[in-house]
Amino acid sequence: MSQISEGVFFIEGKDDMIPDSHVYVIGKPESGDLSMIDAGLMGKANDKMKRIRGLGIRLEDIARVIMTHTHLDHIGCLSEIREKMPWSELWVHALEADPLEQGDERTVYGMDMFRNMCQAQYGLKNGVFKFQVDRKLHGGEALSIGDMRWEVLHIPGHSAGSIALYEKTQEILIPGDVVYADYAIGRFDLHGADPGRHRDSLMQLGDLSVKVLLPGHNRIMRKVPAGYILKTAEQWAPYLA
Ligand SMILES: [Zn+2]
Ligand SMILES: [Zn+2]
Repeated sequence: MSQISEGVFFIEGKDDMIPDSHVYVIGKPESGDLSMIDAGLMGKANDKMKRIRGLGIRLEDIARVIMTHTHLDHIGCLSEIREKMPWSELWVHALEADPLEQGDERTVYGMDMFRNMCQAQYGLKNGVFKFQVDRKLHGGEALSIGDMRWEVLHIPGHSAGSIALYEKTQEILIPGDVVYADYAIGRFDLHGADPGRHRDSLMQLGDLSVKVLLPGHNRIMRKVPAGYILKTAEQWAPYLA
């Protein structure tokens, strides 16, 4: 856990039987208008809240949770978190917000095998991942939040409603599971995934100037080499046809 820059905080995921996503908190603390990016795996809320407070952040200042996408490792502890922050809004891309509101959990679990395994492992009942979404994102929004400006990009492929958040002045990119460090990318075989669109999304991200890459898992990159995402896209292109 650490402060990445003024207005960007990193709370590292702690993997369990299945991975736990990283959480980021964005916004200048004095703004009182902070956003939490992703929630993480089931059972991780108390520890994450403790670490967020340890960074000097007041939970009362977190106005919303924005999901990069709604896979289980990112949304698993959302209900625990919202119990502790009942004032917080939930913002999700429309393509994953609608199923979430209807209690359609296919995106959450990704495939039936994972549903069965995770439900047994964590004692989850059908329909627990049903949430009302306060704001449905579409991509193309410029969010003025936390005294900063974050652009929303719709980058489908890993999932239908994956988004990235991009801060232009510091060249910070939060791409969820679409691209990681070490030329890795997220899997593209789960419900709602689409290899061709994943390739297009990587190309789209490749057009951005990115200095700091803050993905959903594994290590973060504080000094991204020029052309890193484009090179990643090119390496994966043969598999993403
Ligand atoms: Zn994912
Ligand atoms: Zn993930």
